[in-house]
Amino acid sequence: MRGDPGAHELIAPGSLNAVLSLLANEPGKWTPIAGGTELMVAHAAGRLTARNLVSLWGIGDLRFIRIHSDSIVVGAGSTFRDLRAHVTISGDFPLLSKAAGWIGSIANQSRATLGGNLVNGSPAADSSPVLLAYDAEVELISVRGTRRLPYAEFHTGYKQNVLAADELLYAVHLPRRFAQHRQYLRKVGTRRAMAISKVALAGCAFVERGTVREIRLGVASVAAYPTRLYRTEKAICGKTIGPETIRAARAAVSADIVPIDDIRSTAEYRRIVTGNLLQEFLSGLDAPRENMTLSLAQWNEADGESAVNAMLACCGAHKWAASMIAHRPIANESDLHDIADRMWETMKESDWMEAFACHPRIGERTVSQGSSESLTWSQQEQSSISTAAETTLRQLAEGNARYEERFGFTYIVCATGKSPEEMLSILNRRLSSDRAAELREAAEQQRQIMHIRLRKWLDE
Ligand SMILES: Cc1cc2nc3c(=O)[nH]c(=O)nc-3n(C[C@H](O)[C@H](O)[C@H](O)COP(=O)(O)OP(=O)(O)OC[C@H]3O[C@@H](n4cnc5c(N)ncnc54)[C@H](O)[C@@H]3O)c2cc1C
Repeated sequence: MRGDPGAHELIAPGSLNAVLSLLANEPGKWTPIAGGTELMVAHAAGRLTARNLVSLWGIGDLRFIRIHSDSIVVGAGSTFRDLRAHVTISGDFPLLSKAAGWIGSIANQSRATLGGNLVNGSPAADSSPVLLAYDAEVELISVRGTRRLPYAEFHTGYKQNVLAADELLYAVHLPRRFAQHRQYLRKVGTRRAMAISKVALAGCAFVERGTVREIRLGVASVAAYPTRLYRTEKAICGKTIGPETIRAARAAVSADIVPIDDIRSTAEYRRIVTGNLLQEFLSGLDAPRENMTLSLAQWNEADGESAVNAMLACCGAHKWAASMIAHRPIANESDLHDIADRMWETMKESDWMEAFACHPRIGERTVSQGSSESLTWSQQEQSSISTAAETTLRQLAEGNARYEERFGFTYIVCATGKSPEEMLSILNRRLSSDRAAELREAAEQQRQIMHIRLRKWLDE
């Protein structure tokens, strides 16, 4: 049902002070509207309960990006298009740039404001995990003055926050100290753009000689509001990255999140995917940065056949490897991973099958297809199998056979950091999936393996 425009009043006082006076004089009466991309959708659906709207659009005192030596301050009225276009933001806060590019369409990004995204407080808001990972602070303003608090303390419940009736969100402060940090952002949704996330994770970590000295993790869509993973961070900080730490982190993350079943996904799926994303981020943390550009530079210059072979060891689909080569020269590690994902998204079932066929079955050491390097990496990834009990090995072999009979391809699981028992229990669970869902899951596992191998390859 559409809303009735006559039932609403909209005023535009045109200055920040005038809006603040209005909010102070009649607290609770006026609802701010910035880009309107949330409120107008609610209005169109007949769900807009606010009767009196005060416009923030066009107020210059809310739309700014100020650069200081130790921080960047982004006005709440800045649009996601402003953020994407800003060179210092894309240089110092690449995750924020990336998330800004995910907010709806280009048209949407030209209206949607950072402030509106945060105050609206959707558990799936794309900017939120990034701000949590970057340790952002929010600044609130009223006629009484301003106050600052960590963004991690802004949300208090589903679509609830600490704003008083006479306050606006004024700005977001981002500390400029992450040049040496490893940064990660991934959103799992039906599509990358114009899709609400099923799960999103942002991470920012400082690693010194293999030990994690500092880490912050922000997630979306796995709790009532965007959340910092404090327990998980504690389980990782001070530890060296390896299977033990990854296992402890995966266990901790389950206690940090409260996912729900809804129309987009199930709680169980969200729990598993959050663990997978975390593992993907952590697995990349121990790869030294220094060698990256050298390997990549050599690959950028290599002859076509060697360059394809290097990619095929990471993922055995020829079409994917050829599409990677077509993107040479690739400037850096982050671009390499982004392109790898984008190309993987364009692959078809036949390409997936080709990639799956290069993996030995879990519990076996040989495979008839794929390069010798791919086989060596598979054996390393499955190294925990050497600790498996006879019964586990037998059950894995039986499960593999049933799986192949049911789905027609090899059981693919990202084996890095997983025990034989975990791989067996995942196999048993996935045996009850339908084929379409299982195919997607196998392709996602293959994607994770591909990223781990790309990092190994860059590290060589
Ligand atoms: C087609 C479409 C696709 C979308 N895709 C995505 C997506 O992929 N990811 C995503 O995260 N979001 C998405 N959104 C949601 C939306 O665009 C964002 O949440 C946007 O950032 C909201 O900003 P706005 O300025 O339009 O908010 P508005 O609709 O103007 O306001 C939203 C809320 O914030 C309050 N508010 C706004 N500014 C302030 C302020 N300075 N101080 C206090 N309160 C304030 C308003 O009172 C209101 O409660 C999508 C929306 C549409 C229509």
